[in-house]
Amino acid sequence: MRTHDLIIAGGGIGGSSLAAVMARAGRSVLLLERSEVFEDRVRGEWIAPWGVAEVKRVGLYDLLIGAGGHHLTRHVTYDESVDPAAAESATLPLGIFKEGVPGPLCIGHPRHCQTLIEAAAAAGADVRRGVTVSGLEAGPSPRVSFEHAGETFEAGARLLVGADGRISKVREAAGIALHQDRPHHWFAGLLVDDAGGWSEDLQAIGTEGDFGFLAFPQGGGKVRVYGGYALNQPGRFKGEEGAKRFLEAFAVNCSPANQALAAGRPAGPLLSYFNNDSWTDRPYAPGVVLIGDAAGWNDPIIGLGLSITYRDVRIVSELLLGSDDWAALDFTSYAEERAERMRRLRFTAKLQATLDMEFDDAAKARRASLFERAAADPSLRMHAFAVLAGPEAVPETMFTAAHRARVLGQEA
Ligand SMILES: Cc1cc2nc3c(=O)[nH]c(=O)nc-3n(C[C@H](O)[C@H](O)[C@H](O)COP(=O)(O)OP(=O)(O)OC[C@H]3O[C@@H](n4cnc5c(N)ncnc54)[C@H](O)[C@@H]3O)c2cc1C
Repeated sequence: MRTHDLIIAGGGIGGSSLAAVMARAGRSVLLLERSEVFEDRVRGEWIAPWGVAEVKRVGLYDLLIGAGGHHLTRHVTYDESVDPAAAESATLPLGIFKEGVPGPLCIGHPRHCQTLIEAAAAAGADVRRGVTVSGLEAGPSPRVSFEHAGETFEAGARLLVGADGRISKVREAAGIALHQDRPHHWFAGLLVDDAGGWSEDLQAIGTEGDFGFLAFPQGGGKVRVYGGYALNQPGRFKGEEGAKRFLEAFAVNCSPANQALAAGRPAGPLLSYFNNDSWTDRPYAPGVVLIGDAAGWNDPIIGLGLSITYRDVRIVSELLLGSDDWAALDFTSYAEERAERMRRLRFTAKLQATLDMEFDDAAKARRASLFERAAADPSLRMHAFAVLAGPEAVPETMFTAAHRARVLGQEA
């Protein structure tokens, strides 16, 4: 049985980036990834400015830019109650949220994962792909058994990292409970090619009728689009014509540029998820620490899973590199920071989902009223700053029932 400093289960964004950082620092890392090839699973391709700052801090920014990372610099929020020209006159510049960060960074998820896993291998990590993990043992001397290339292996480590996503086996083996909110809406995503009329530096969101849309250009005429719709429409975009109907839904009046999206060509699968939030009370146990989605995820409506994951990687790697006595290492500071970070982001996502992804008359009236009131009082849009600049960058008073009531026009 071989022993390592770290065994990391899951070689997606969290696992591969932590493996790269720790292997570069000279630690021995075994990285176990289930897939042979990273495929488009309709996952995160937009990193918020505060997440880009985390990518820089762990030394992976140049790598992502070299792999085709693409910055967006402008944001528009459209709505059926607002004239498109008025919405566009309130375009938000995206370079103002983090010093030295021109805006959010977009990069295709499969390419992002592949770039990181190659960096981990190049830095000396023992990277195994196409692995089936058959046994996991938490505790002071964690162990893993796995099958790879027709052989069974056993490995031990000083620490086991669970970076194995939402349905984490490491989390289960360590007996860490996952709490989940109820689903709020359906969220479908598709990569669109030949969306030639869409500006390469412009992201947009908007709601019209019974559909909320989001668009994030990836460069080269490709745009990642998402659409939100009510939970009582599970079959809305199912079947052979699903992608066609999905793109047709983008042809809204409130955003004329959406015609370019509606006329685009599907360049990947159309996958739907229900959106909700989840969290763990303590993302660690003896011999185990969880990062990324395995430790609890934020509702993708505000697109922060990658930023959250990169911050996890930065904090955990700093703790690991700060002391060589990992047996005595205390992850309390990570757990406390993450709990507060996720509490704030859960609040923010719930507010955004209530605003953008509800479709009855009351919801339409709420949105129209907010557009009018926020023109005079920009503090009503403070939650956007939490998304772009980070949850710690806005005052605590934003994450309160009073602020929510003010935004939704529901003050007593
Ligand atoms: C529809 C949707 C849209 C999103 N959009 C955005 C966005 O725009 N911006 C953003 O920041 N975030 C977004 N996210 C969230 C983001 O994709 C995730 O938070 C992020 O991918 C988490 O990374 P991870 O490494 O923790 O987990 P994952 O990306 O899930 O990676 C886990 C890895 O572990 C591997 N694995 C799983 N089980 C095992 C096992 N037993 N053994 C070995 N390997 C295993 C998997 O193959 C995978 O490679 C979105 C999520 C969804 C669902």
